Amino acid sequence: MTFILKGDWPDAECMDCEKKGVAFRHWGPLAPAGVKVLNCGECWAKRQEYYTKHGAPKSLPVHEFFAVTVGPESCSLYRVADCQAAGRLVVEKIGLKGQGGAPVGAELKGGNLVGITRVGLQLYKEDGYPFMYQENGRPFSGETIRRQQAEELNVAHWGGGTSPIVALFASKGAAENCLQQENLRPCDERWHMETAVVLRAIGETHQTFIISTGKLRLPFEW
Ligand SMILES: [Zn+2]
Repeated sequence: MTFILKGDWPDAECMDCEKKGVAFRHWGPLAPAGVKVLNCGECWAKRQEYYTKHGAPKSLPVHEFFAVTVGPESCSLYRVADCQAAGRLVVEKIGLKGQGGAPVGAELKGGNLVGITRVGLQLYKEDGYPFMYQENGRPFSGETIRRQQAEELNVAHWGGGTSPIVALFASKGAAENCLQQENLRPCDERWHMETAVVLRAIGETHQTFIISTGKLRLPFEW
């Protein structure tokens, strides 16, 4: 069923760009299944373009996910949130099992991007040439600029990081449950499905959460 309401809601936030001012409330072909989407005029047009090109609705941007990580003596749970409207990135430890490492409440610092890599979550900054970056010698053909990945930069551009990732989750409850399990391993196959869902939702063109696809790629298919 399709539902499109055109109007003017100046105080509502567009669910794609998070700016105030909504012109369309809709579900149907332009919205992910089961979701009623609020859009400004500009993002509505972008959704139409995307649908025409791909024959499927553009997914909603991911602004938060949870990561369980495993170090030598402890396992941790992190909340990663990209508060785009507030211009702030939060990578905060919200759970800990075992000894050592940073306490609950500690925040990682030292970057405006979060790399999702084989070695862990890695905060970093680009080296100043993100818009000139080309893939395989050709300009990137995605719909937005492709950010540089952590492994494409000298580690001098890296900030705080975590131990290797066990799994990624969209919900805090599922992540807490994972943290309580025994024998957690890097990229644990017990949660490949949950991790894949998060990775696919983030996609290749997220402007803050950057999945490594080179030598720091997570060692499984999604
Ligand atoms: Zn918008």
